[in-house]
Amino acid sequence: MGVDAFGAPRFRCTDKSGCLCADFCCTLDAMPEEQRQEVEAQANVLTCQRKSELVIFCSCGHPAWAHASTPEQHRMEMITAESVSASERGPWYALLHDAGLLHLEKCLEATLSLEGAYEALDVGRLDFLKKLRQAGVQVLKDRQALCNALARARRLAELDRERAARAEKA
Ligand SMILES: [Zn+2]
Ligand SMILES: [Zn+2]
Repeated sequence: MGVDAFGAPRFRCTDKSGCLCADFCCTLDAMPEEQRQEVEAQANVLTCQRKSELVIFCSCGHPAWAHASTPEQHRMEMITAESVSASERGPWYALLHDAGLLHLEKCLEATLSLEGAYEALDVGRLDFLKKLRQAGVQVLKDRQALCNALARARRLAELDRERAARAEKA
């Protein structure tokens, strides 16, 4: 836990970027001693804005108010955000989210089912890439990344099944 410039305790950063900075530490405090003395020596020539930036902004680059004011707030916000999106999102969401390909979601939801994609992948990687192009995924890099993500998701699912089967036998 850190304390902001007004003495209020500040916990985990809740910035939308997913910054997981554990608590508030003002930019000034995060500076090495030498640099800090330098800044303090120049205090009278710094603009007000620069001064408040040094004190109000955390070393993670986000302002104090982006940091939760209670230890629970952050967790609660994460939980609600996740449960909302999981129930509202379509079948492609989880996979695309993990692969950093969410910009393809709209296009894929409209043109290709997840099952259809796996079936196409069974036929072969090249067929699958062609199908993706027909489905409107314009960028080759995206098609390849999606292909890899699907293959990986399937491998993980298989591993899970194997592990479960082994656990059953044991
Ligand atoms: Zn942050
Ligand atoms: Zn921070």
